[in-house]
Amino acid sequence: MGWTPEFPNPICVEAGHPECRYFMAWLFSNECHAGCPYCMMGTALTKWYPRQWSDAQAIRAWDQFADDHGSAVILFGGHESGEHLPLVGRVVEDHWGIMVTNFTFDERVFCRLIPPGRMILHPSFHAHLWGNEIEEFLAKIQRFRNRGYWVPVVSMACWPPLMDRLPAWREQILAAGLSANIHPLYNTSYQGRVLPDGYTPDELQQVKALVPPCTYEDRIVRAPLKLKACAAGHTAGGITCDGSFARCVQRTRAMGNFMGGDHVVFDEEPRPCDVAQCMCGNMGGYQIHEEAEETA
Ligand code: SF4
Ligand code: SF4
Repeated sequence: MGWTPEFPNPICVEAGHPECRYFMAWLFSNECHAGCPYCMMGTALTKWYPRQWSDAQAIRAWDQFADDHGSAVILFGGHESGEHLPLVGRVVEDHWGIMVTNFTFDERVFCRLIPPGRMILHPSFHAHLWGNEIEEFLAKIQRFRNRGYWVPVVSMACWPPLMDRLPAWREQILAAGLSANIHPLYNTSYQGRVLPDGYTPDELQQVKALVPPCTYEDRIVRAPLKLKACAAGHTAGGITCDGSFARCVQRTRAMGNFMGGDHVVFDEEPRPCDVAQCMCGNMGGYQIHEEAEETA
């Protein structure tokens, strides 16, 4: 479904906060100690967008955003968001959060700083962090659910050495009442094979059995887009690691220096976007496709 003025902010609605006018993706974390061999973040974030702001600046900037635009739904991303719980906890005093995390943070610290109802958790299962077994990871999720946190989905990456175990882990995730988001790997390599093009035919077959077929074309490449426009920049935005504000975290041409005190000004209308492939997976709801425009 494409974006329409009648359904202005699909992510805020899905997150249970239709009163929020804006969804903001914030690539804010430049730290992670997990050491996953397939990490897609690599050094790109810190190299291209070095963090040039303090926690105090970030808190001031989000307070100013709340004064200007009201509360937002913020996606906390980048490297590991759980490395910065005090900052996250302070920011969601005025906003709501969706946190992408490897789920290794101390749960007592998390629960002290961030109350249920303020945060949706999107944990990723990185098997090497859990002794290559999923039970303790799922047990931790259940403890959070018992405390009232919303944990709807678990992500896993199609890393070749783990491929044989993914179907069973997916079954355990589904049996626990969660959705499973299994995705191919990008910007990484295994035994000299750059993924996703470097998946062997056998691996490719396994990937296709695990990943929703509508998402990708034959060689695990996202289907090319032919968009009329995109409402990212109009009803959603991206803050990159260097603190600048852009329409999303892929189209990073700065529209202002968020951490430097600039007020965020959104576009009055959705604008065209000429990307062939949109890597902002969660921003699909903001895209306006040719057919949506024609039938409006
Ligand atoms: S937990 Fe995420 S950010 Fe950290 S190393 Fe693993 S993939 Fe990279
Ligand atoms: S289509 Fe994707 S890359 Fe383009 S503006 Fe929208 S979210 Fe950003």
